Amino acid sequence: MRILVTNDDGIHAPGLYALLISLQEVGEVRVVAPDREQSAAGHAVTLHQPLRLKPVELPGVRGEVFACNGTPADCVVLGQLTNPQPPDLVVSGINGGANLGEEVLYSGTVSAAMEATIQGLRSFAISVTSYDKPDFSPAARFAARLATVLPHIDLPSRCFLNVNVPAVPYEEIAGIAITRLGRRGYLNTIEKREDPRGDPYYWFSGAPTETDSAPDTDIAAIAQNKISITPTHFDVTSYHVMDSLGSLVNDLREW
Ligand code: MN
Repeated sequence: MRILVTNDDGIHAPGLYALLISLQEVGEVRVVAPDREQSAAGHAVTLHQPLRLKPVELPGVRGEVFACNGTPADCVVLGQLTNPQPPDLVVSGINGGANLGEEVLYSGTVSAAMEATIQGLRSFAISVTSYDKPDFSPAARFAARLATVLPHIDLPSRCFLNVNVPAVPYEEIAGIAITRLGRRGYLNTIEKREDPRGDPYYWFSGAPTETDSAPDTDIAAIAQNKISITPTHFDVTSYHVMDSLGSLVNDLREW
């Protein structure tokens, strides 16, 4: 099994390294990852500057490893286009920090997995729900197992898995839950400061606020120390609203 690996925390992130050491036991890994942290880069792609791949040595990692000056989504596209043999699986992570609720829309980690599905590749994103030097080994172990199982399960094309692993020791993980996205928002707080020239600048701050943590959500699973697996896709159409908007066409008839 050929596995293309990327992340958004950068090529030297400990979560990526733990993932590689684990995944290379179940497949042949090839890495194209950002040369610097790209957390919250979302699904951006680079159109206005050249992209470069720089070979990197990571101790104990077999297979090609490249640092890219682009975004996580760039890394997936480049990883695909620079290798004549397409990967069987794309894995993005292990992110340091949760990707729950609407965080998936900002996440470079999740966007890389989504880009893989756009490219027609099977993928998953994996995150550990702590920013504070988490132990990545339970998530790394789980990723290798999931990589082995995923090619054999019935998963629609254009659907990928967003996996969050609680930041607790392996023995304390209380199971695995298939979940939907809850609601977990940020960006409701900014700090206004002053630069040395006396001009104001602003910095997003504040902790996430969880407004939907119902029992079937990713947020609830993590709160119970379970691994959360959310099947995810990029079709953001509000299907249930389409019918109710039928009369809108009538209202807009004359324009
Ligand atoms: Mn990140």
